[in-house]
Amino acid sequence: MLTKNLIKELTNTLPKQNVLSEIEERYVYSVDASNDPYTKTQLPDAVVFVETIEQVQKVVKIANKHMTPIICRGAGTNTVGACTTPHGGIILNFSKMNKILEINKENMTARVQPGVIVGDLQKAVEDIGLFYPPDPSNLKVSTIGGSIAQNSAGARCFKYGSTKDYIIDMLVVMADGQLIRTGSNTIKNATGYNLGSLFIGSEGTLGIVVEATVKLITKPQATKVIMAYFDTVEDSIIAVNKIIEKQISPTTIDFMDKNAIQTVEKYYPTGLLCDKEAALIIEIDGHNSIIEDMRQTICSTLRDNKASSIQFSTNKQEADHIWSARRSSMAACTKLRPNITTDDVIVPRQNLAKLVKGIQEICSRHNLIVCMVGHVGDGSVHPQIPIDYNDKDEYKRYKIAKSEIYHLTIKLGGIISGEHGIGLEKKAYISKVVDGGALDYMRQIKKIFDPKNILNPYKIF
Ligand SMILES: Cc1cc2nc3c(=O)[nH]c(=O)nc-3n(C[C@H](O)[C@H](O)[C@H](O)COP(=O)(O)OP(=O)(O)OC[C@H]3O[C@@H](n4cnc5c(N)ncnc54)[C@H](O)[C@@H]3O)c2cc1C
Repeated sequence: MLTKNLIKELTNTLPKQNVLSEIEERYVYSVDASNDPYTKTQLPDAVVFVETIEQVQKVVKIANKHMTPIICRGAGTNTVGACTTPHGGIILNFSKMNKILEINKENMTARVQPGVIVGDLQKAVEDIGLFYPPDPSNLKVSTIGGSIAQNSAGARCFKYGSTKDYIIDMLVVMADGQLIRTGSNTIKNATGYNLGSLFIGSEGTLGIVVEATVKLITKPQATKVIMAYFDTVEDSIIAVNKIIEKQISPTTIDFMDKNAIQTVEKYYPTGLLCDKEAALIIEIDGHNSIIEDMRQTICSTLRDNKASSIQFSTNKQEADHIWSARRSSMAACTKLRPNITTDDVIVPRQNLAKLVKGIQEICSRHNLIVCMVGHVGDGSVHPQIPIDYNDKDEYKRYKIAKSEIYHLTIKLGGIISGEHGIGLEKKAYISKVVDGGALDYMRQIKKIFDPKNILNPYKIF
């Protein structure tokens, strides 16, 4: 009865075609890229496609009246169950709020709606010589709203930082329907609390981002990509530190372990050297006049630090060719077992080799395959573990291995998420890495922002 009234109010408020309530339609929106079938969930009561800020405010008012959760949804590509619906509720779909409202070349800013695809924004600004660096590897589908809510990063984070470093202003609809502005259209802002930063990485639990202004930088003139192979993981990590010591700031320092190299080469061959234990993919960018110098310094540092083979790009096509190997790793892993899982643990770089070797040992002990890639410049790795969810024994071993990986990460001074977030998947572990007092403050912030617990409830903690 409650749901019937809810649907009626939603269809009276929004264009009829923007409200989905059939069971098969709701089913599609009950899952995201986390995809663990053993996580308890429920179908959303309704899925609504909003087109204006006013519509968002009206839907929030309806949700308040019915005490129904609101779960924002961009592309649904988060890997931690951040937009699943364990308690039902209204899915707020932003795919129709996908306009780039303004690119201001002089101020070097862009004002966008939350449903804009990250890759589309990047292309639009690059066409006029500007640059939006945050680059989650699925940037062709993931949205600005989703990447603000998860504080998404990517390979270029090493040099340029993550989403949080580029959001200077937002319009946010609060849990009671009020619209607030969090920042300003200026590059610096020391005016009061940095309220906007609370919404970034809050996974849709504190407010609904309905517009964002992002800071842009100038597009680097030139880029080059270097791929280096090593006979041990340890050598590859030592080389990372040695490159950084040369006072060159590469754009990315990414990593593939032997299993990742072999799996990619088997399913998406690009000529990778399959007998090597590790590979680094290093991208550099900058002015035309210095790029070759940087490349030479990095290649000689790699040679001095036991790289057993080095390749580098001389044009964009060759650079794309090198990157395609790294970017195919998750797709290649899906060929190994029916399901694929990924993670994003991160440690201080000094402990990275121990983390990589430890994860390989844990997976081998539990008889699981692991293909490891990662943004090792900033200390993070993505252990990709292909499994068959229907194989209950394998699933059990996978869950134990995951727990051991988190405990190892914590022991090495790290944290359980560098860029994917917590959602439902990791909430059992957050108290192990966030100190009790800090967690209590987070809970109190949630209560102040959302006293009725309507916005994406029971996620994160
Ligand atoms: C193959 C693959 C590769 C990936 N690679 C990376 C990577 O390199 N780096 C990285 O950081 N992540 C990566 N991810 C994770 C994922 O891409 C990011 O978390 C992504 O930015 C989420 O965007 P989305 O539009 O899909 O958001 P969704 O999954 O739809 O939502 C994510 C969260 O944002 C909230 N949300 C969405 N829109 C709003 C809004 N307007 N206001 C408030 N809250 C909102 C949702 O409620 C949810 O909590 C990858 C995922 C996949 C599947």
